[in-house]
Amino acid sequence: MTDESQKRIEELREAAKPCFQCGICSSSCPVFRVAPEVNPRLAIDAVVSTGELTEEGNEWLCAYCLMCDQRCPMGVSLTDILIGLKNLSAAEGNAPFNITKAVESFFTIGVIAPGTTGVERKRNKLGLPEIPKPDPEQIKILFEGTGGLEILEKNLAKESLAE
Ligand code: SF4
Ligand code: SF4
Repeated sequence: MTDESQKRIEELREAAKPCFQCGICSSSCPVFRVAPEVNPRLAIDAVVSTGELTEEGNEWLCAYCLMCDQRCPMGVSLTDILIGLKNLSAAEGNAPFNITKAVESFFTIGVIAPGTTGVERKRNKLGLPEIPKPDPEQIKILFEGTGGLEILEKNLAKESLAE
C-alpha cells in the first residue's frame, strides 16, 4: 500500500472511531438482509481495529441507499467510509472485474450500457428528446485530470494477469 493510501485509511479510521458497535446500521441495511456478508457494522469494526482493507471486498456490494448514515446515532457516515474503501481498493488495482469493465466502457464509449434502438423508439413515441451523445475527448480529459485513467489501467493490467 502506498503512503497516500495509508494516510487515507488512517483518515477513514478516525471517521469510524465514534462507532460503538450498536448494529443499527446493519439492521437497517437492505443489502445485509439478503447478503449477510455485507455487514456495515463489521466493516466499520474492521477499519477501526485493523486499519486495513478487507480482503473480501464486500464494500462493493453497498447499494448506497444512505439508510445507515441516516440512522447512525453517532453520526458516522458509513457510506463515506465505504466509498473511501472502494477508492482505496481501486487505487491498489483490486476493483472487481465487473466494475473495471463498466469503467472501461465509460472511458471508451462514454456510457456503461449503450442505449438500444428499442429505447430510442420508446423515447420518440413519448416525445422525449434524443439522449445527448457523450464527447470522448471530454471523457479523456476527465480521466486524465482525475488520475482515473491510471487507476483503470492498473485494474485492467491486474485482470489480464489473472487470465
Ligand atoms: S449505527 Fe453507527 S454507531 Fe451503530 S454500529 Fe453502525 S456505525 Fe456504529
Ligand atoms: S448505504 Fe450501503 S451499507 Fe448503508 S444501508 Fe445502504 S446498502 Fe447498507
